[in-house]
Amino acid sequence: MATQLDTTEDEYGIKSEYGHYIGGEWIQGDSGKTIDLINPANGKVLTKIQAGNAKDIERAVSAAKDAFPKWSQSSANERQDILIEIARRLKERHSHYATLETLNNGKPMRESMYFDMPQAIGQFELFAGAAFGLHGKTHDYADAIGIVHREPLGVCAQIIPWNVPMLMMACKIAPALASGNTVVLKPAETVCLSVIEFFMEMADLLPPGVINVVTGYGQDVGEALVTHPDVVKVAFTGSVATARRIIQYASANIIPQTMELGGKSAHIICEDADIDAAVESATMSTVLNKGEVCLAGSRLFLHQSIEEEFLEKFKTALEGIRQGDPLDMATQLGAQASKMQMDKVESYLSLATEEGAHVLTGGTRSDNADLASGHFIKPTVFTNVKNSMRIAREEIFGPVTSVITWSDEDEMMKQANDTSYGLAGGVWTANLNRAHRISRGLETGTVWVNRYYNMQANMPVGGYKQSGFGREFSHEVLNHYTQTKSVVINLQEGRV
Ligand code: NAD
Repeated sequence: MATQLDTTEDEYGIKSEYGHYIGGEWIQGDSGKTIDLINPANGKVLTKIQAGNAKDIERAVSAAKDAFPKWSQSSANERQDILIEIARRLKERHSHYATLETLNNGKPMRESMYFDMPQAIGQFELFAGAAFGLHGKTHDYADAIGIVHREPLGVCAQIIPWNVPMLMMACKIAPALASGNTVVLKPAETVCLSVIEFFMEMADLLPPGVINVVTGYGQDVGEALVTHPDVVKVAFTGSVATARRIIQYASANIIPQTMELGGKSAHIICEDADIDAAVESATMSTVLNKGEVCLAGSRLFLHQSIEEEFLEKFKTALEGIRQGDPLDMATQLGAQASKMQMDKVESYLSLATEEGAHVLTGGTRSDNADLASGHFIKPTVFTNVKNSMRIAREEIFGPVTSVITWSDEDEMMKQANDTSYGLAGGVWTANLNRAHRISRGLETGTVWVNRYYNMQANMPVGGYKQSGFGREFSHEVLNHYTQTKSVVINLQEGRV
């Protein structure tokens, strides 16, 4: 093991270096190598994390395996108390975590404060209550009693992306803790500051080894984790390309997996929609988290009869969006989370015009000289888009909405469902029957009616088709962290 970690703090309380969290200790990685975490709003280095490897994973899985027997036998009271206390501390340090999320991810502070943090806290509150609800069932027979016990699985691998780290961590850790599993968590190598700080501040609550965090690159840490023979479940959120690899590895060990993947969601505006409200919603869907949201309504299906009015208002709304320093509470659109992500979005901006789309607004990087050192893209709308174009089929993950006009509902629905993804969708209409018909017709895990992004801690989130399988949020996820055991006791007289 190398030298001690440098834990000098800056003005935000960020330490110079963070270790892996293994067996209740903060340690340097085996490789001795580190990765810089960057502030995407100005390109400056915030801190460094460990570039983990298979040896670090071996230690972490071993710590989680050792912790499992005792933790799996802990009382529901104990688990509930921990989850309640985590939620309380998160509320107390709400703005600290929101600041870290904003500094490392580039999302506006107002979103970190009023979306990411409340959503993350909601997961701990929901599953604090669930710890007591995890009971089995009994079945009575004439000469026997059947007992269905519900048991935790063991060491779970959890792998999360960079776009909403606190919420992704919370929606995985909280149900795993509530149900008595132990965890090795691998956050994204580009954005994970808030998550690591979270475990530093919660470490005294968690028995050593119950949660372990190993940082590093996917191919070094993620692969070693999902192929480890003592890992009994994989919960992954990320891209389809990575999911394909993880599914292969995990399948070789025949372990259950849940996959929360990408999206290319249809946001449908009917001719009887409340246009002003729908424009506001489409604007929010374009800029929320700089468009780095799996659920974004990035294909806007707009009824031809309201096209002119809607687009004029949409353009005006997006051109009024304040883009700037993400730490400023007035900022509505921040910086793409990394240079790699900005380059990817820019490549789609070029592709769109090559494919024949028209730029309604945006279409380039920000031309504000004050933002030149950060990864800022103007909010962008493309019109004249066909559902067959790559910009309508592939996840861009930037503040970019593609508008596809329609007049016939059946034809529009065919196009809305003509995608490899199936994560979310939205519909705006004043007609209840139509709202119901369209929401039932969309092949997606979530549909919002007359408001986009209505996230609730206890509504299941997950995908149809290549958006993944399994569900998170809501008690439904507990089925993925428990297994049942059927015990049948013979009650015939004279047989015992
Ligand atoms: P990604 O697949 O590149 O990485 C996700 C995580 O997997 C990271 O921690 C990464 O280090 C790790 N990883 C990479 N290669 C690996 C490998 N070979 N083995 C194991 N782990 C590996 O995805 P990303 O770019 O970080 O995240 C964006 C994607 O996540 C988008 O597609 C987005 O739609 C999706 N997402 C989905 C949801 C949802 O709930 N469905 C939520 C948020 C993000």
